[in-house]
Amino acid sequence: MLTCKEQVARSSDYLDGQLSFRERLMVRHHLMFCPNCRRFVRQMRLMQATLRAMPEEPVPGVDDLAERLSAERQKHNTQP
Ligand SMILES: [Zn+2]
Repeated sequence: MLTCKEQVARSSDYLDGQLSFRERLMVRHHLMFCPNCRRFVRQMRLMQATLRAMPEEPVPGVDDLAERLSAERQKHNTQP
């Protein structure tokens, strides 16, 4: 059986469906017997759902950077 530490390390992959069949079984098995980890996974799932529901904020400075990079590239391209 997994330890709680191993369980926690796999939690995010478990929620993302990234685990192998075998590992998923191990996680489910642990969750069956460990109320603490069950609560942890439930909270994590809730948090992921909340994060996904949030509107995506534009990252400040990215447009600026992209513009500067493309200006650099054009300068480079015009050189002989
Ligand atoms: Zn546990």
